[in-house]
Amino acid sequence: MTKTFTVPSSSRQQVLDITDEVKEIVQNGGIGSGVCMVSVPHATCAIYLNENEEGLVHDVLTLVNGLSRRDNWYHDRIDQNAAAHLGAIIVGNSVMLPVEGSNLVLGTWQRVMLTELDGPRHRRINVTITGQ
Ligand code: ZN
Repeated sequence: MTKTFTVPSSSRQQVLDITDEVKEIVQNGGIGSGVCMVSVPHATCAIYLNENEEGLVHDVLTLVNGLSRRDNWYHDRIDQNAAAHLGAIIVGNSVMLPVEGSNLVLGTWQRVMLTELDGPRHRRINVTITGQ
């Protein structure tokens, strides 16, 4: 089963905590035990699992920008967003989590974080659950 929801970003780069939206889908998904994949069908945003702490969120963007920003990417000849594509490749476009008791199994500090790299835009998030 795959359910989709949409999240609006409000700036060029932004990290948004989407854990509660994913949890709600998993809790209503009718699957007690299994696996949940959260993915984005986009080329310039990404998803990771980690702590939602303001300083860390800032550090994530600094790290991604440090790795992806450059003046002469070939893709910039088309639409000037090569760094956003490359940042999305580095961070990745999905995360996978166990489901137990119709709930996401997350560590104490783990949250599902959507990483906007070429906003503001509306982003679709797919939540796929499999199990029994
Ligand atoms: Zn592009």
